[in-house]
Amino acid sequence: MKKIKLHWQILIALVIAIFYGVVFTEYVGYVSWMGDLFLRALKMIIVPLIFTSIVTGVANIGNAENLGRLGLKTFSYYLLTTTFAILTGLIFVNILQPGVGADLGFSQHIEGLATAKESFGQTLLNIIPTNIFGAFAGGKILGVIFFSILFGYFLTQISEKPRTQLLGFFNGLFDVVMKITMFIIKFTPLGILGIVAKVVAEQASDTQALLAVGGRLGLYMITVIISLGVHAMITLPLIVKFIGKANPIKHLKAMRTPLLTAFSTSSSSATLPLTMEAVEHNAGVSNKVTSFVLPLGATVNMDGTALYECVAAMFIAQAYGIEMGFLQQVIVVITALLASIGAAGIPMAGLVMITIILSAVGLPLEGIGLILAVDRILDMLRTTTNVWSDSCGAVVVANSEGEKLKVE
Ligand code: ASP
Repeated sequence: MKKIKLHWQILIALVIAIFYGVVFTEYVGYVSWMGDLFLRALKMIIVPLIFTSIVTGVANIGNAENLGRLGLKTFSYYLLTTTFAILTGLIFVNILQPGVGADLGFSQHIEGLATAKESFGQTLLNIIPTNIFGAFAGGKILGVIFFSILFGYFLTQISEKPRTQLLGFFNGLFDVVMKITMFIIKFTPLGILGIVAKVVAEQASDTQALLAVGGRLGLYMITVIISLGVHAMITLPLIVKFIGKANPIKHLKAMRTPLLTAFSTSSSSATLPLTMEAVEHNAGVSNKVTSFVLPLGATVNMDGTALYECVAAMFIAQAYGIEMGFLQQVIVVITALLASIGAAGIPMAGLVMITIILSAVGLPLEGIGLILAVDRILDMLRTTTNVWSDSCGAVVVANSEGEKLKVE
């Protein structure tokens, strides 16, 4: 029998999961454990994967000059695309005005908003961990990335014999970790079945609330969805085509599995192992570029989140009837960028980060309550956009490094 391709298996799992979540809401425990196991396995592999892939990748980049060049390209891509994303959101939220005339009656109270916002400066400080074992054990991705880059770089600076030995060791380790990753990926359809059935079952009541509120919130969702669509389906493919010199459709096909996983898990970090596997094996990007662009991208480059932050903040301002002048909107753009960099690649991280924007422009923090009910579905879509942008970045950077891709 011909084996069904993985992304088809995932799509089938998604359909079954939605059906199960709607029909067997009370019995969701029978399948949700598969989702929990799958997420645990992904989390288990993230830190070893980041460490070994960055060490081997950076060691292959070799000298500081090359590393600097790669870093510059990568960050330029992140900044450029995230800014495009925010501006797209800003344009649509100004045209569609979803918040104007919204009923504030349904605003929910949220606990602990003040404590939730870790400042942007703190995020930057955390890049350098005080204890690398703490960073590894606690899954502090930015700290792990920073140490791995240092380690990979200085590995190239030691004398010949231990260098070759260590490099051989790390190459082997990376191969093993990649094999484990591919093994876990085989279970994606079952994992997604469990995760999505649970989300659907949990959201059933929220959806009813949403239908009751309807109107402006629906328009707000549409605004986010259209803006994300324009960014993911027009802006990024154009960048892939003209700057990355690759075929966006082929690249999209190469990325089906991680994109569906991002959609289902709402977590860029959890999806990272699948993204790395697909970018390397399906799109044909080298380990050198993959291991540099993707782990960083999963935490730093969040186009979808940035766009969403901007639209949400503007929606809240409109709902409270607060006029946002040009300067205010510039502040929203800048803080949305910072908030997206600071947001972790986990579900609903973006929602909490909106507090940064709201306090920057003096909007009431309770405004978040307005958009809470519809956050989960928007989270799925923005996470997919985030992962898609990371993968496009890998293609663009790989092309600029003169690599021959499979998706050209
Ligand atoms: N869930 C998103 C991600 O992992 C972050 C967010 O909440 O916007 O990419």
